[in-house]
Order: sequence, then structure tokens, then C-alpha cells
Amino acid sequence: MRKLDNLYRQIIMDHYKNPRNKGIPDDDRYRKEHIRNPSCGDDVTIATLVEEGTVKDIRQDGTGCSICCASASVLSELLEGKTVADALRVSENYVDMIMGKPFDEAIAFEDALAFEGVKDFPARLKCATIAWKAFDATVKDGENDE
Ligand code: ZN
Repeated sequence: MRKLDNLYRQIIMDHYKNPRNKGIPDDDRYRKEHIRNPSCGDDVTIATLVEEGTVKDIRQDGTGCSICCASASVLSELLEGKTVADALRVSENYVDMIMGKPFDEAIAFEDALAFEGVKDFPARLKCATIAWKAFDATVKDGENDE
């Protein structure tokens, strides 16, 4: 990832080495979604606790490359405490940012901005978005559209 800015690389490596909110609770109140990306061995589970329309807690677990694991960690911090609608809006705009599409630049992405450079690495796009797609599935009704 030599094109990534140094600061951004440090943020990603920090989340990779010290993952936040890691470990899936054995608690039926959490909605869980598991997604795998066979092309590079990424395997992510997101568990979300929603109460009264607000994301009360996000837990994540899995194995994979640094981009994948770090983005799951960043997601678990960034989206916790938001309403479901706000969390989905941030998540959808994050995916647009990664895919190189127009996105709402007024959103406070915080550490998630570190992944913007991934858009220049087509092979890694899935790595950076897999956790976010899993999160979306935990808060949306109906089927995962993957
Ligand atoms: Zn990966």
C-alpha cells in the first residue's frame, strides 16, 4: 500500500494490531452477519445491538488482511451510538468513497478516512467494504443482498 499516506497507514496498522470491540458476544439480542471474501481469506462477523432505533453496541471478529480487520475495528467505533438511519448513511457514503464514487464530504469519517486511498487498489475494494456490508445487513430488514 505504498501510495497510502503515512498517517493513514499508521491508523490502519493501529486498528489491525489493537482491534477495538473484538469478540462476538453470546447474546441473542445482537443481530449477527458473517461474510467471507475468498479472494484474500477475509472472514468477518459483525454483531450489532440496536435499542429504540439507536446502535447501542457493535462487536466484530474475524481474520483476514490488515485492511479488512482494521476497517471492521474502525466501523465498530465510528457507528456506535448513532441512530440506525445515521449509521446506514455513514456506511453507504463510506462504501461510495471506497468505490471512488461521489460521497457526502460533510460526514465525519474520522479514522475511516484512512481507507480512502484503497480506491486506487481495485483488488482491495472488497477488503475495505466487507465489514460495512455485514453491518448494513445486521440493521436492515430482509436479506443480505450479497
Ligand atoms: Zn483482504
